[in-house]
Amino acid sequence: MDISSDNLQITMVSSPGMGHLIPMLVLANRLAADHNVTVTVLQVTTAVSPPESNLLHLPVDDNLVQIIQLPPVDISHLIDPSTKVVTQLCLMVRQALPSVRSAIAAMDRRPDALIVDHFGTELLPIAAEFNLPKYVYAPSTAWFAALLIYSPVLDREINGQYVDQTEPLRIPGCKPVRPEDVVDPMLDRNDQQYDEYIRMGQEITLFDGVLCNSWPNLEPKTLESFKRNEHMRSVMRNPVYPIGPMSRPVQPITEKTELISWLDRQPDESVIFVSFGSGGMLSAEQTTELAWGLELSRQRFIWVVRPPTAGRVDDAFFNITNGSDSAPDYFPEGFSTRTGDIGLLVPMWAQQVEILNHPSIGGFLSHCGWNSTMESITSGVPMIAWPLYAEQRMNAAFLAEEAEVAVRPGVLPTKAVVGRGEIERMVRRVMEEREGVKMRENVKRLKMSGEESLRIGGSSYNFIYEILKVIASKKSHK
Ligand code: UDP
Repeated sequence: MDISSDNLQITMVSSPGMGHLIPMLVLANRLAADHNVTVTVLQVTTAVSPPESNLLHLPVDDNLVQIIQLPPVDISHLIDPSTKVVTQLCLMVRQALPSVRSAIAAMDRRPDALIVDHFGTELLPIAAEFNLPKYVYAPSTAWFAALLIYSPVLDREINGQYVDQTEPLRIPGCKPVRPEDVVDPMLDRNDQQYDEYIRMGQEITLFDGVLCNSWPNLEPKTLESFKRNEHMRSVMRNPVYPIGPMSRPVQPITEKTELISWLDRQPDESVIFVSFGSGGMLSAEQTTELAWGLELSRQRFIWVVRPPTAGRVDDAFFNITNGSDSAPDYFPEGFSTRTGDIGLLVPMWAQQVEILNHPSIGGFLSHCGWNSTMESITSGVPMIAWPLYAEQRMNAAFLAEEAEVAVRPGVLPTKAVVGRGEIERMVRRVMEEREGVKMRENVKRLKMSGEESLRIGGSSYNFIYEILKVIASKKSHK
């Protein structure tokens, strides 16, 4: 069936926040570019727009991809200072349901399918009302999807808090999850966000399929379990499609920033890039230890610095080559003077994709957000896994133990301050030692297999084609 001439129209619904919008737009672009699909992305918004929204330039194919911002939702009357992130996101999407429904009802042409992220599983009745094939895109690992899908079973079988279990949590056919690595909403079973998470885990199995940002060479075991493990298949009867690596494309450098010029002057694979995603922050004590660790490692670095407490950060990035008397007090005294010839500090935000793709970058100390992880793998850069929140502890465990492309601290950085000595050793392990060479080989192999999976005839390309074929056949039967 030639689905490209069929001109399918798909509606996506993205939950609030750039971290959720970006993967949707990346997928939308791919559907448009590879398969000529027209995509409307309905973006759930809040009155407070995230600070980074203007900083992520993601070109979309204007002819085929349209973004519609839904009227901002207000959940202020539903929350208090203790309301956790997952609860807030679910409340926002819940509040936006009438707008989503109206937006679809008002479309000149009804969409042929609906794709939501995993916070949007409550759109099931809307999909049913409009008789739309429905898919969830959970833009993380297949392992993350497996835990979410299996969580209602764990909920029935395990008593007490997960974090107090002495044995790892078993998911059929998959790597077990260490209790301390569970996703944030599983940290406290008495919190409302746990109930929301379990509900999502139940609803996700009712969709026609789940898309994840992975590919068979990255997660062979987990993906196999969705296909062949009987126990898993009894919980998740519909397919899980690995369609990755989905990641923001590198923007052509039209004008060289000072930072890119600095990178141009460094030897190949000699710089470690340090960044904690769009919102990750460290304590003041941890920031100081990190500064010491980088200095002691004697490796070149670029560090995207966020003030540990509310405080001033210079607008322009400051090169510490010349040292500065006004260096913030969370840096060790004289840090800027001593590291000035090998280190660059960038306040708040950097062009991460372009940096990671620069030949001078040899390592990435990352909070292991899955977008950042994909960007690192597709740039062939090994990592120091420094998980902070969401599903990042699982990502870190996966990267270090299964993919073998990362080292990680002995104790979770959310549990204890990682000392300068350990940081120094981790940086050297990645940048200088044989272990780093091996990890670099592994990550480059993954980069290549990821590229292959996206090509015409590759696994990710074919899975997307398969989904579109199902959608097209349902459309022709309407
Ligand atoms: N990002 C960036 N510059 C920064 C920090 C983050 O471009 O200084 C981008 C990064 O490239 C990634 C996204 O913001 O695409 C962060 O997503 P991720 O899933 O890694 O983490 P999150 O911020 O959602 O925790």
